[in-house]
Amino acid sequence: MSTNQPTALPPLRKRGIEWNRVHWSVVAGIAVMHLAAIAAPFFFTWTGLVLMFVFIWLSGNVGITLCYHRLLTHRSFKTPKWFEYILTLCGCLAWQGGPAQWVGIHRIHHKHSDEDTDPHTPRHGFTWAHALWCMHRDAEGQKGLDAAKDLMRDPGLRVINNWFWVPNVALVPILYFAGEWAASTGISASGLSWVLWAIALRIVIVYHGTWFVNSASHTWGYRNYQTTDNSTNLWWVAVLSFGEGWHNNHHAYQRSAAHGLRWYEIDITYWQIRALALVGLARDLVLPKPEQMPQ
Ligand SMILES: [Zn+2]
Ligand SMILES: [Zn+2]
Repeated sequence: MSTNQPTALPPLRKRGIEWNRVHWSVVAGIAVMHLAAIAAPFFFTWTGLVLMFVFIWLSGNVGITLCYHRLLTHRSFKTPKWFEYILTLCGCLAWQGGPAQWVGIHRIHHKHSDEDTDPHTPRHGFTWAHALWCMHRDAEGQKGLDAAKDLMRDPGLRVINNWFWVPNVALVPILYFAGEWAASTGISASGLSWVLWAIALRIVIVYHGTWFVNSASHTWGYRNYQTTDNSTNLWWVAVLSFGEGWHNNHHAYQRSAAHGLRWYEIDITYWQIRALALVGLARDLVLPKPEQMPQ
């Protein structure tokens, strides 16, 4: 394990709730999801549990980690356009916004990592970096779009970006009525159970998986590389976020399709990119050179 120490950075002001900029519709959405997630155990069904895992994989792993982050933000590999659109739709299902703003804000994070202009650095406070930052209406919104102009130039991605909420809203009645129909066949299911488990609880789990990358993986863990920020490798965030917790490796080699670079840094998203390459759906994978691998 490396002894790389966090970079000595000057202290930043702590940020808390900034009332004049609170994005109330985002706060309401996140609050409703959490309240509904708390209700989920009271409406447990086995099919609801299975669907939750399927949608965690689809929206959190395929959608956010593989597509929004490694494909759209960093272009770590290439894929056919039609497949890129399908992957992007999966990302929309995570309720983390359309791809352009997500990608733009993340690019700003890389450009100004752990500086005062970083949209989400724990140096402004752990809670700020984890969740508070995204509940504020702020300049990063437009700056984010500016940093993702390449996406907005693509007509397909532009349409998906502007209508990202449609598949999310449509999924609620689809799951509800499918769950009711499944229950009528006599299996362990109900419409409400499917909505609470496969939408609310699933979205809350994916939220915190993504958010811990921004908060915990800039706070605790070890470092393979002496980057200019405080990014760290943290195994339990890698578990929650499908390999994104090897975040110090990622900050060192942002375009790499693999974030786990040592044999024990398990990165199931990279395995899936390799699997896509095997069947011809991914090519030109970007990887660190052998001499750039952790020593
Ligand atoms: Zn980071
Ligand atoms: Zn990144």
